[in-house]
Amino acid sequence: MAQNKKDTVREIVSAYSSYHFNPINTNLFRHADLMEAIEFFEENQELEVASLGCSEEGREIKTITYGRGKTKVLLWSQMHGNESTATRAILDLLVFFTSSDAFNSLRKQLADSLTLVFIPMLNPDGAERFQRRTSTEIDMNRDAIALQTPEARLLKNTAEQFKPDFAFNLHDQRRFYNVGNTGVPSSLSFLAPAFDQSRKVNKVREKAMQVIAGINEYAQEYIPGGVGLYDDAYSHRSFGDFMQSKGISTILVESGWIKDDPEKEAIRKLNFASLLKGFELIASAALNQFSVKDYSDIPSIDTKLFDVLIKNAGFTGSVSPVLDIGINRTEQLLDHPHYFSIGKIDDLGDLSSFFGFETIDATQLKVAPGKAVRLSDYSELSTVSVKRLLRQGVLFLITEQVPLESHVAYPVNIIHPRKLPYLQHPVFEGSANFLLVDQSKTIKYIVMNGFVFEPDKINESANGLVIS
Ligand SMILES: [Zn+2]
Repeated sequence: MAQNKKDTVREIVSAYSSYHFNPINTNLFRHADLMEAIEFFEENQELEVASLGCSEEGREIKTITYGRGKTKVLLWSQMHGNESTATRAILDLLVFFTSSDAFNSLRKQLADSLTLVFIPMLNPDGAERFQRRTSTEIDMNRDAIALQTPEARLLKNTAEQFKPDFAFNLHDQRRFYNVGNTGVPSSLSFLAPAFDQSRKVNKVREKAMQVIAGINEYAQEYIPGGVGLYDDAYSHRSFGDFMQSKGISTILVESGWIKDDPEKEAIRKLNFASLLKGFELIASAALNQFSVKDYSDIPSIDTKLFDVLIKNAGFTGSVSPVLDIGINRTEQLLDHPHYFSIGKIDDLGDLSSFFGFETIDATQLKVAPGKAVRLSDYSELSTVSVKRLLRQGVLFLITEQVPLESHVAYPVNIIHPRKLPYLQHPVFEGSANFLLVDQSKTIKYIVMNGFVFEPDKINESANGLVIS
């Protein structure tokens, strides 16, 4: 593909820190935080902020419009309440649109050619609970036909009245997606959804594919090999497929993961860059440089990535002498903006075709159970005491007086004595707590609630669980 001689979007991304909306910088933020953020833009003449309506529980959903051009683009984020990355990227775009600097010519080009309507956080009730579904337990992205949620009705009405040419359906995906046959995480996944069972390509879908192909070429500079395609099986209940069938070129964007980016700030920046690139492509003739083939050449995503993959771990007294162990962690909302993690063994056996964000070669090592000691006084727990215990292989503190909480703020577990018989070698879907030791029984790795670290590099921010 021909590159523009001067790549304005790349220059803008180099100056991204000036457009980052600083007050919101974590995965977890509430509807009230977003409303406060939008207020910041309300007086700005470049933007038009309007009320779209309310969620089931009465939280206001707003639209923000930029530009006055002929080509209409509708974007909505967080229809799944716990998928907040694109909402943050939208705030960054608003900062960019309302700034004035060396990039005014691109702003003018976008504002003259496009009318962009943003609906950030379409599912505020779900966001409040850090959950995918609405407060009525409906998956809004399967509600395009039945329209059982007020939020889906708002989206559909907006599409009918605004009649966009393009739509961006902005989501987050889970961590286990890798690209093709590689261990590279899919940092951005795309789909130009099918509009019927045959999955044929018409002019409408082709345009969505061209936008994705253009963004992909651009994003490769930042995340080589880190862009993947979602499965295009037709789902008539889903908004993307529905909008595509109504003649709106629709682009699904899934914010994925990159190593060591737990709050997804790097992915947020990628979102900002990709959406801006998408707008630039739509606003110019550059879109026609890209073909359906460029789109189909993007590798598909797969689900072969674990948070931790331990390879060739030796077992004593088990059926198999050597096993691979795949561990995943899930995050549970505690109170805004805090969460804790639950680590679990998601698979074990021959995992030679799998990958890990962290991979441990345990060829010379054996799995050993973590030790359990009596907890004398809960109030005596400290990072220092926990570290000392961990280095001795202690993963469990025994007490009859287990705390009410589900997690421990230190990297150690608290366990009721009645649960002790269940501490055994790693089992499928069991807890991920064990040690990896060498031939002289020296601890090489500590696996504590799915977090893995070496004895002299203890992850102080890892949390344990209360097992009662
Ligand atoms: Zn989603």
